[in-house]
Amino acid sequence: MKTCPKCKSEIKISKFGTHTVEAKCNCQKARYFTDSGNDDDARESYIRKLFRNSKPSVQPSTIKTEPVSKSTPQNIPISKIEEYFPTNIVPRDIQKQILKEIETSIKSGFKKIVISAPTGVGKSAVGVAIAKYFKDGFFITKSKSLQDQYTRDYSFLRPVKGKSNFECLKIMEKQKVDDPILAKELGYTCEKGDCVEGTEKNENGKDVTVFCRFKRPLSNVTSTDTQNVDDCSYYFQKYYGLVSSFSVWNYSAFFQLMQNESVFKEHLQKKVSIFDEAHGIEDQIIQFIGINISKNQLDECQIDIGKYDILEIDELLEVLNIMRQFYGTQIAELEKRMEVDKEKVDVKLLGRFESNFKNFANAINEINNDPGNFIIQDSTNDYANSVSVSIKPLRISNYVEDFFKTEYQIFMSATIDKKSFCETMGFDESEIAFIDTPKSPFPYEHRQVEFLDMGILSAKSPPEVESGAIRRIDELLTKHADERGLILTQSKSRCWEILRGLSPENKKRIRICHSTNNDGKTQDDIIDEHRKNRASVLLSSSLWEGVDLKDEDSRFQIIAKVPYKSLGDPRVREKMKKFPLWYDSQTIMTILQGFGRSIRSNDDWAITYVIDSKIHELVNKTQKIIPKAYHDVLGIENVS
Ligand code: SF4
Repeated sequence: MKTCPKCKSEIKISKFGTHTVEAKCNCQKARYFTDSGNDDDARESYIRKLFRNSKPSVQPSTIKTEPVSKSTPQNIPISKIEEYFPTNIVPRDIQKQILKEIETSIKSGFKKIVISAPTGVGKSAVGVAIAKYFKDGFFITKSKSLQDQYTRDYSFLRPVKGKSNFECLKIMEKQKVDDPILAKELGYTCEKGDCVEGTEKNENGKDVTVFCRFKRPLSNVTSTDTQNVDDCSYYFQKYYGLVSSFSVWNYSAFFQLMQNESVFKEHLQKKVSIFDEAHGIEDQIIQFIGINISKNQLDECQIDIGKYDILEIDELLEVLNIMRQFYGTQIAELEKRMEVDKEKVDVKLLGRFESNFKNFANAINEINNDPGNFIIQDSTNDYANSVSVSIKPLRISNYVEDFFKTEYQIFMSATIDKKSFCETMGFDESEIAFIDTPKSPFPYEHRQVEFLDMGILSAKSPPEVESGAIRRIDELLTKHADERGLILTQSKSRCWEILRGLSPENKKRIRICHSTNNDGKTQDDIIDEHRKNRASVLLSSSLWEGVDLKDEDSRFQIIAKVPYKSLGDPRVREKMKKFPLWYDSQTIMTILQGFGRSIRSNDDWAITYVIDSKIHELVNKTQKIIPKAYHDVLGIENVS
């Protein structure tokens, strides 16, 4: 048995993923090698790499201003894809291994690859290498800030953002506002733009749509163009992204694009889509499927919804049929009027009727095909809600293919597991390659978790358990009196309960922060205030993911309650009954996302406290699907 020449301890070899082994002794950090089937080969490579090479080992994540020579001995690519790694970054061993596994998976014929890799691994550089290897591709992220991060780090990526981010030139012209910043401030954004102006006959006598003069046609945009002053910014950046080889989209814009495949077909022929934060993909897709009936539509169709038991499928179908017929009749009338006097027809109205007709006809078909798959939520008595009835499928598997058109798809997340991901998406597990990073790149001591076991917290908890938990939170705040921190819980109402139970001194430090806030402040506004105030503490039910509280922005985190999804949502309730793994997996992955909010780099550190004893039951139930990188902090050993 070969031992470490320096510390003389055994060099331990363990499996990493499907084609790789990890080698480690007592004095060095782990190194990764292709699995040859013989552990001694890996030990030999380990010794060679660490002790027979006089040059120091490469420090991970060192940003270099000059391109890295691929011929330096410490950086010999171990896969073809690695040759496409961003040239200003030295790839870490872990990134090299992930790329190697991706390459092996591609060679084995996999078209869909799921990568579970914790914060700090450098997933975006991995994604860039994959996209460049394929020569073109789409990047899809969850938020604008992640989109900005991508384009800041990789200037060849073209960002495509939603209409709300751009000033509408047509409204500006009408309102005589010439400053784009002011226009946005006044709300003159492209969301409100009247882009379609009517129809006219072309030279062949065919009706064609007339668009706003600021909208440059897609056919006139090339990847070497620049924007002109009279180009609508929204459409220009969208088309520029489409005609470029690499673009970065948010989920909503990208899925909309996929749904308009026929319009953009020519530009959707890229090889790969790289989905970031892919654990939340179901929530993104569900927004595009099913149907909502608004109160306005019911009024327009003169339907008294109170006369129907809308939760019964037959009665729901009756309502949908009436609505389909109504819009069908309106379309026929407008078209007839158009033949007589085209000018008198409101084309925008016609477009809306056509879209409603299509949506209701599709919904009727889908419900008839699989009536048991639809969950109906009746909000007719919720007067603050503009949606009256919402109809969503329980299983999205019949719809997902519509959203994935490129030949290859790469799904990346710090909190994803193959089994529940495949179950949710309806993917055949045997067709998915799964790469699970074996450990966090950050030291264990920097991201420790303390379980405080203050009892199980639920709606049925005795008052003394609830008050004991809040008292403990108060003690922790006092213990960290001079530091900024984060308290995460599962609902807005629980945030207020916690706040009420704190001492006056600690109460002053709290900033309640949700995705939408009553005082009109955005989440970012509140986080900015937090960063500027000494010992400030964020208390939130929504900051479980998508926020970076690095270094002094947060030195402690308190998980006040296990964040099960609310069973008040009928779809969640039904999914929980039919797919218990889905319910638990969503909850544990949210917690793991929460663990990462305050530890953002190798030198960063924060302590996490878990108040709710329910976590143990949840971890026991889900340990087989918990990514390996979290096993150490959760005390999970030897999961088979
Ligand atoms: S094309 Fe652009 S500028 Fe014209 S109305 Fe639409 S959003 Fe406004």
